[in-house]
Amino acid sequence: RYANISTDIEELMKVLVDPNERQGYAWIRMRIRRMWPRFSKAMKSLQLKQDMNGRRKKKILVHLGLLSKQSGWKFAESQFKGGPLGELVQWSDLVATLFLLGHQLTITSEAEQLAGILNKLPAANSPCQSRKELPVDIIYTDIVGLRQFKKHVKGGYGKFSKKQNSCLLRIVDSFGTEPAYNLRSWAKAHKILTTWGGQDLQPQQFFTMFPHSPDNSFMGFVVEQHLNDTNVVKIERRNQALVYGKNEYMWEDDDLVQGKAAYLDVIKSLVEIHGTVYIDTDAKNKTHSIPSYVNNHGLLNGEDLHTLLRQSKIFIGLGFPYEGPAPLEAIANGAVFINPKFNPPHSSKNTKFFKGKPTERKLTSQHPYAEQFLGEPYVYTIDIKNIQQVKDTVSRILHRNEFHPYMPYEYTEEGMLQRMNAYIEHQNFCQFQKQPAKWPPNSAVKFILGEKGVSCKDACWAKNLICDPSHFRDINSKESLLESGATCPQSKEITGILYPSFNTVTNECETQKEEFLFSCVGEHLELQRLCPCRNYIKGQTALCQGCE
Ligand code: UDP
Repeated sequence: RYANISTDIEELMKVLVDPNERQGYAWIRMRIRRMWPRFSKAMKSLQLKQDMNGRRKKKILVHLGLLSKQSGWKFAESQFKGGPLGELVQWSDLVATLFLLGHQLTITSEAEQLAGILNKLPAANSPCQSRKELPVDIIYTDIVGLRQFKKHVKGGYGKFSKKQNSCLLRIVDSFGTEPAYNLRSWAKAHKILTTWGGQDLQPQQFFTMFPHSPDNSFMGFVVEQHLNDTNVVKIERRNQALVYGKNEYMWEDDDLVQGKAAYLDVIKSLVEIHGTVYIDTDAKNKTHSIPSYVNNHGLLNGEDLHTLLRQSKIFIGLGFPYEGPAPLEAIANGAVFINPKFNPPHSSKNTKFFKGKPTERKLTSQHPYAEQFLGEPYVYTIDIKNIQQVKDTVSRILHRNEFHPYMPYEYTEEGMLQRMNAYIEHQNFCQFQKQPAKWPPNSAVKFILGEKGVSCKDACWAKNLICDPSHFRDINSKESLLESGATCPQSKEITGILYPSFNTVTNECETQKEEFLFSCVGEHLELQRLCPCRNYIKGQTALCQGCE
């Protein structure tokens, strides 16, 4: 009945069994094994800090849609050939976390397995009594998995329909889904419906890799670091830089990022350059994009890559991939990250990669988290076409005597365990279940009338607080706007992402008609938005003070 902390990795490995031996879970299993000692230690340390007793053991289904045959993505096939690994990092850490926290796990990656389990779910219109005995309490999946759901689960998506059983879902969604793109009817009417959007879930049911917009929940991952491991010998840092780019195409110029060869040439004049580029031995034109002076090690396994990072002074960004785990690993191992600045910013409007992603976010650099949350002396965000600036930055870094590693608490094993535990214990998207106490509690929240033209995300941040969409409902009224300082004789209800707001042109208080559109992002020159803002734990931005 109760969740008991569990550190027996062999038990976890029994659950992580590949259904059709495509080796789909191989990379995940490797990462979990490698990180297990640190994970188990972190679990014990968290247990000493906070009371972990009396938590209900939940039945959790983890469905890795990205690894299914139907996805057509070949994630499984390319995991040791330079394919994307950020997602696998996130899934590995999620699985490890849920298991350590003592919940009952089932892991699937093919639609048939999913159907086998979920077809046992009672229909949405069955009496409340039977819905209380669902075979699962929480389902983590991704958007591919969600589509499989809709297609393969008996009774169709009906029984996972809006506000019904779909409340069990948690969607792992690296780049996030903004409310305007999530509500299908709205997205369609405003011509922003994309293949990824229109899922009609509550925006906080999407779990992102970085804290992008507080409309979604920040899940994150663990930054791997071995500096303090007892078996690790201290490695001398050499005059060496490592390039961030495991595929050849990442070294080539594209429409938006140009001048990579000149950028590398100038760095090369100051320091030895290394790479970990996957070499396809079957391909005819081998490594033509990689300068001959680069010492390429080929794709490395985790241990070797981390050794190389600890030997290097600089980790060189090439502008792609966006927002991966590797720069945080480099910084955690003491290397300094050179982060290419984007001007104009990259977004779904101008890059192929973000096209169709359900977000309007604009990336001002390759790694906005490193730019905004870490910054100098760990990260230098620079224009890579400005050769003088590149030269100066690299020289400054090379002349340092010491290289300090840095790792935000939210990216440690303990930080992830604490955050996910808080979500599991407190988030409840189901209306038919007994509602727990409001979370985050009112005591952590302040209501702020923002400046004209400022989003709630920014209005809260300006006061060192974080927008918390779960409290919008409490302030969606003329009375709340008046209390916060608006002066409006009239009020009206509007459907849109910008409300509640005070319209400074018409002097009207404007409230929100569609709760699914409450949103922290979105701004309008004429509007002062009324915002729910909460405090946060330094280093654990997802949680309010006392909310762990
Ligand atoms: N990685 C690795 N060997 C390499 C290069 C990268 O194991 O030679 C790992 C790296 O440690 C990180 C993961 O691949 O944990 C994802 O890296 P990246 O930031 O490149 O993100 P992606 O674009 O793959 O999502």
